Amino acid sequence: MTPEACVHINAITEIKHPVKRVCEECVKIGSTWVHLRTCQECGGTRCCDSSPNRHATRHAHATGHPVIASAEPGERWLYCYPDDAFAEY
Ligand SMILES: [Zn+2]
Ligand SMILES: [Zn+2]
Ligand SMILES: [Zn+2]
Repeated sequence: MTPEACVHINAITEIKHPVKRVCEECVKIGSTWVHLRTCQECGGTRCCDSSPNRHATRHAHATGHPVIASAEPGERWLYCYPDDAFAEY
């Protein structure tokens, strides 16, 4: 991990990857998404801020789960909402 990343990111020892490459909230409402992010607290996969519904950010604010990982193939990074911290792995 990047040394300057926050405590939340540094506490992660194993990255949670998406079980299914879909936004679990968009699927329920029949919406679409642009990119996917996986919550590192509960493992749920939701859509990014470029998507109309921004489910990953809404989930982080609603639950207090701080860190997401990109669920996009070839992207290897983590982001922490409360610290606005970013780290590649
Ligand atoms: Zn943090
Ligand atoms: Zn969504
Ligand atoms: Zn979560």
